[in-house]
Amino acid sequence: MSILLTGGAGFIGSHTAVEMINAGYDVIIADDLSNSSEKVIDRIEIITGVKPKFYKVDVSVKEDVRRIFEENNIEGVIHFAGYKCVPESTKVPLKYYRNNIDTTLTVLEVMEENDCNAFVFSSSATVYGDKNQVPFREDMPTGGTTNAYGSTKLMIENILKDVAAANSKFSAVLLRYFNPIGAHPSGLIGEAPDGIPNNLMPYITQTAIGIRECLNVFGTDYNTPDGTGVRDFIHVVDLAKGHVAAIKYATEHTGAEAINLGTGNGSSVLEVVHAFEKASGVKIPVVFKDRRPGDVEYSYACVDKAERLLNWKAQYDLNDMCRDSWNWQEKNPKGYE
Ligand code: UDP
Repeated sequence: MSILLTGGAGFIGSHTAVEMINAGYDVIIADDLSNSSEKVIDRIEIITGVKPKFYKVDVSVKEDVRRIFEENNIEGVIHFAGYKCVPESTKVPLKYYRNNIDTTLTVLEVMEENDCNAFVFSSSATVYGDKNQVPFREDMPTGGTTNAYGSTKLMIENILKDVAAANSKFSAVLLRYFNPIGAHPSGLIGEAPDGIPNNLMPYITQTAIGIRECLNVFGTDYNTPDGTGVRDFIHVVDLAKGHVAAIKYATEHTGAEAINLGTGNGSSVLEVVHAFEKASGVKIPVVFKDRRPGDVEYSYACVDKAERLLNWKAQYDLNDMCRDSWNWQEKNPKGYE
């Protein structure tokens, strides 16, 4: 029995592949490499001693997904494949709707053809929108997403709830990620953004290594202790382990469950900068800028449900996350190039 990881060569997918292999699963990766590198597959082998079976395919192409199911005995799918650049999604929304929804529908249809019923989805805390109070709980109303990327996550959550309601054998775990940072402690896999990073940690590490001049801190007038935005940063290895627990849950239950993957702790942008400086010994020049459109003031998780249903809890702290992000950046200044 195998588990298919769509988008398994990406940042979260690759770390999940490692933890799935470590937990004894047979892992198959499908990835079109549109935002990742084939080198990831070799690095996963170096870390685990096991080379996952790899298909370079676009999972919106039904024939290709069918072939993967024909050639393997797939028990469940962890669906990471999707575009994730928030600002790009506001400029070319159709690209995001077409790709993110299409890939999901195709994978679900082929799963149905094969009576494969365990699905774990890469959702996002962005589905909580800007009206809810922290800590975000899974039973809060979703909606009010501020960009097309977030809207695709919300739409796919709704699709999965409908599929689970219609098919009593189907199980979907909707993992709502908070802010994954860090990298595998080996420094062999990590986040490799294409071009100028949009997210905080890769921007910090690229500033530290000299690729960027200084960090722009977006917003200093939020109603937070130091005026900068607060997020729930979670080590990507912890996040990956949450997927191992989630696919086990999905194979043993039916129905749709949304589950937060966060630490439950909020850290401000400036706290992250200071933690990074301490972990790396490198000073980060910062420039204070206006708020970035679409950003919320606070985002952090209530983590009770993950603990209760998945028996999972984040282990790494902010210092570990900064150390491992910096280790990855130092060892791979140009990502996988
Ligand atoms: N941020 C920042 N400078 C950057 C990138 C991000 O100040 O170059 C801030 C951003 O405004 C937010 C926090 O860092 O308050 C986290 O942003 P990120 O894009 O990493 O994740 P998001 O929470 O938006 O998904």
